[in-house]
Amino acid sequence: PGLVVAVDGPGGSGKSTAAKAIARRLGLRYLDTGAMYRAVTQLALEQRIDIEDAAAVAELAERAVLTSGTDPDAPTIAVNQVRVDAEIRTRAVTNAVSAVSAVAVVRSRLVSQQQQIITEAVDTAGGIVVEGRDIGSVVAPDAPVKVFLTASTEVRALRRSRELGEKGVDDVARTLAELGRRDELDSTRKVDPLQAAPDAIVVDSSGMTVDEVVDEVLRHIAA
Ligand code: C5P
Repeated sequence: PGLVVAVDGPGGSGKSTAAKAIARRLGLRYLDTGAMYRAVTQLALEQRIDIEDAAAVAELAERAVLTSGTDPDAPTIAVNQVRVDAEIRTRAVTNAVSAVSAVAVVRSRLVSQQQQIITEAVDTAGGIVVEGRDIGSVVAPDAPVKVFLTASTEVRALRRSRELGEKGVDDVARTLAELGRRDELDSTRKVDPLQAAPDAIVVDSSGMTVDEVVDEVLRHIAA
């Protein structure tokens, strides 16, 4: 049977980089569930839907057809057959995504799609590394390996700033504030808030390189 590795944690904790690297090392598929929430958000912004209007957002999510490519070397995301890989990384999407992902209908729809992708990868591709906020707790509660990756807020903001190509102190400060706000929204929402599953291995990546994080997780898998 295939292996499922759940990688959860807040933004900037190094989840994506670590999850992709683990998938590559083990020859597994890779699913970025955050990209799916971002894709629904991008569509909502494009269609000028009020993201605070939960009913409108729910209706949009029910109509949207998401397609996730699960190659860890080239993950992709499309909405209604249109690729939105770059569009989902904009600041506008990042700052709107928590409101969209707090809508229960959005979550139930995406969670069931994620579970289908996981089942298919387990049946046909040896397994999958899945990253998000609620993978170990909700999407794949039976996953044999669960990692909760954290890092200090400062380290996370610096990483995010670097990804965005920011250099100034003001940019980092702004990113820090936005990250804090998103953490707060993600961990206090009523449905499936961000939290470590009780059986997750907690790894603080603040002072660690990606390779060190990956090695640590692989040690747990081997054990
Ligand atoms: O991981 P990433 O920063 O791309 O996730 C974007 C947003 O999607 C998160 O801030 C969160 O609101 C939402 N999300 C979620 N559940 C997941 C993955 C992401 O609610 N499993």
